[in-house]
Amino acid sequence: MKTTDLSEAVDKTVSIKPSPCPWCGVVQDMASGAGHQKTPEPEDVSLCIDCGEWTVFTETLGLRKPTDNEFIEIGQRTDCRLLRMVWTKVDAQRRQGNERQA
Ligand SMILES: [Zn+2]
Repeated sequence: MKTTDLSEAVDKTVSIKPSPCPWCGVVQDMASGAGHQKTPEPEDVSLCIDCGEWTVFTETLGLRKPTDNEFIEIGQRTDCRLLRMVWTKVDAQRRQGNERQA
């Protein structure tokens, strides 16, 4: 995934049914397709922008934790690895920004 692909994806942010992240509890109400421009569907993998953990859309488009097998699958996906790397960098910048403000 190129950087340009990610910035294009960010432009395609869509509203989703507000659902709490099963890891951190922050309610997610927006989603951006990374590398694909589509509205989330059941079983699609998602990365929580707040805690950086993986979630999976349920049948009703809520969010759940991935199963063990899904975690293995996610770990093998290049797009997921790149997305997590980008999230880690953005999160580090966000933390630095918060430290400067404090
Ligand atoms: Zn979260």
